[in-house]
Amino acid sequence: MGSVGFWLGTRRMRQLRKEELHELVTERLQRLDRRFTGGRRAIVELLIDAGHPVTIRDIGEMRPGLARSSVYRNLVDLEQAGVVRRIAVDDEFSRYELAEDLTEHHHHLLCVKCGKVIDMASPAPLERELDQAVREVSKAEGFLVASHRVDVLGVCASCRSAGYG
Ligand SMILES: [Zn+2]
Ligand SMILES: [Zn+2]
Repeated sequence: MGSVGFWLGTRRMRQLRKEELHELVTERLQRLDRRFTGGRRAIVELLIDAGHPVTIRDIGEMRPGLARSSVYRNLVDLEQAGVVRRIAVDDEFSRYELAEDLTEHHHHLLCVKCGKVIDMASPAPLERELDQAVREVSKAEGFLVASHRVDVLGVCASCRSAGYG
């Protein structure tokens, strides 16, 4: 999937090697006068390893040595630098993943009961149709498109079997 080019605006999905990723993250933080410190590095590596969106609590469980307050601060900085993307059903359920242009384009299924987020690959035909529809609407609005996000809200399998939804 990594090198399959799908363009929206100037963005293209890509698959980076770890070293390239580290260089990019360093550059992005430098633009904000921030350094790629050990704490931020630990979070970025955890997000790579996790491979799916995680909560601050998940991060605490995966890396008990990291202080919660500094994890939160580092996530805010990484989000501002465009390295991390926050996915939220609501404030209570924030989850974090690496920014899409550092990984690859995808959509999400969001459980409104427990906040679980499931990554959903988006097949090329769907992307083409979305691209077409977005192009038409944005053209009519004089809107310059950079990217799109699709979050599907619903109830996950375990919440359903617990009697919700
Ligand atoms: Zn759920
Ligand atoms: Zn898409």
